[in-house]
Amino acid sequence: MGTKGREIVGVNVEELLKLMNKAYADEWLAYYQYWVGAKVASGRMRGIVAKELEQHAEEELKHAGMLVERMIQLGGAPLLTPQDILKETNCGYDAPKDPCTKALLAQNIKGEQCAIATYKKLFDFVKGKDPITEKIILEILEDEVEHEEDLEAMLTDMKSPVA
Ligand code: FE
Ligand code: FE
Ligand code: MG
Repeated sequence: MGTKGREIVGVNVEELLKLMNKAYADEWLAYYQYWVGAKVASGRMRGIVAKELEQHAEEELKHAGMLVERMIQLGGAPLLTPQDILKETNCGYDAPKDPCTKALLAQNIKGEQCAIATYKKLFDFVKGKDPITEKIILEILEDEVEHEEDLEAMLTDMKSPVA
């Protein structure tokens, strides 16, 4: 990043990069959890649920890309190994061992709730101090809120007597 671009970042960059890399780790694990969940999904509304999980997987991968581009701009580097991803994650990884759609939805809702909490924290960290990162984090946060809502709505449909 250029001199002036660096100058306007009013937070501790090392600390910010650490938080961003932790969110980056979460995104990769969320991506894989959704991606593999879509493959193994079985039971009620399987087709619709799998399609939604696939779409969310794509969006989590996009988030990882948004984070990494900004981290590099800030002079950082992304985590380079799956071991580091597992070490640094906030939200962890819930293996979709029960492939029934209801169980998958419940697991992924939990993941989204953790993501929302993570990005709210990151947003508060940069708010008013680093407008570029703030915008990126806000965009991701908007997506995570939408993800949670989509999954909760599906789970509600599934619980209603006629779906
Ligand atoms: Fe995400
Ligand atoms: Fe999400
Ligand atoms: Mg969706």
